[in-house]
Amino acid sequence: MSITVRAAAKINLHLGVGRVRDDGFHPLDTVYQAIGIHDDLSLADAADLTLTTRVADHIEADDVPDGPDNIVLRAARLLAERAGRSATGTFEVRKDIPVAGGMAGGSADAAAALVACDRLWALDTSDDDLLALAAELGSDIPFSLVGGTARGAGRGELVTPVDDRGAWWWVAVPASVGLSTPAVYRHFDVLRPDAPEVPASAEPLLAALASGEPVRLARALHNDLQEPAIDLRPELGELITLGEAEGALRGIVSGSGPTVVFLCDSAEGARETATGLAGAGHEVVLTATGPVAGAHLLP
Ligand code: ATP
Repeated sequence: MSITVRAAAKINLHLGVGRVRDDGFHPLDTVYQAIGIHDDLSLADAADLTLTTRVADHIEADDVPDGPDNIVLRAARLLAERAGRSATGTFEVRKDIPVAGGMAGGSADAAAALVACDRLWALDTSDDDLLALAAELGSDIPFSLVGGTARGAGRGELVTPVDDRGAWWWVAVPASVGLSTPAVYRHFDVLRPDAPEVPASAEPLLAALASGEPVRLARALHNDLQEPAIDLRPELGELITLGEAEGALRGIVSGSGPTVVFLCDSAEGARETATGLAGAGHEVVLTATGPVAGAHLLP
């Protein structure tokens, strides 16, 4: 038997970051949205555990580990250990989500692996238990399970779905070289030693989402990691200016970057912005709508 699970990229519409805690984590108030850029993970019965990866043209194959470091295998082993069985199966990951791009591609794959193993191994794990395992594996993974649009608290792992009246159009521009998430947080600490203990509230963003109006949402987008990401990669600031000149309502660094996402007012607006950015020399320009579903089985 073989099954396929699809998992989406995430962007952060609001990313409020508080002062680093004693345990090294930063408290977050964030709003995630799952958008239509996907990885697909297939899992087939086998006696042992193996993984192969296939990547889209815009991804460097060498950037995706195919050994034990791949988060898919870590997720499978964790679920197997908790279920008291061995981890078995042949995984194939087909990646379209930019790697180390601030779009939680690894987290999407981990969420897909949890869903796939739970189904293929007929474990029937409860949603709460799956979410707890996801949080152990990484802060963004519970959201990758839930999808849609959701608020994240704690390290981002405590997710609650929110009211979203929009069908939003996004243009995403990944960079050819990724940015390390820990490096961006460390630079945030350097630039913002006075960061508040309580992160900037997502409430204004939530009101804009509930209005369904792109212009309001554009105004409310907020990312505390944008300044450190641009300080490390000044070209990201130039890219945001360019996309806005090409018709986007607003550009923003996605999570810890370096992918930049642009909110557009319509499908046509997204096409125009994407064409303008491609014409200006950006080789990889992706268009997507959001929100879309979290990790789910394909028929
Ligand atoms: P986030 O937005 O959650 O910070 P990201 O999008 O910046 O994540 P990922 O694409 O998740 O970053 O990858 C981070 C690192 O994880 C990669 O550089 C890679 O070495 C490692 N990795 C492990 N498994 C995977 C996987 N299945 N897909 C992509 N990267 C993986």
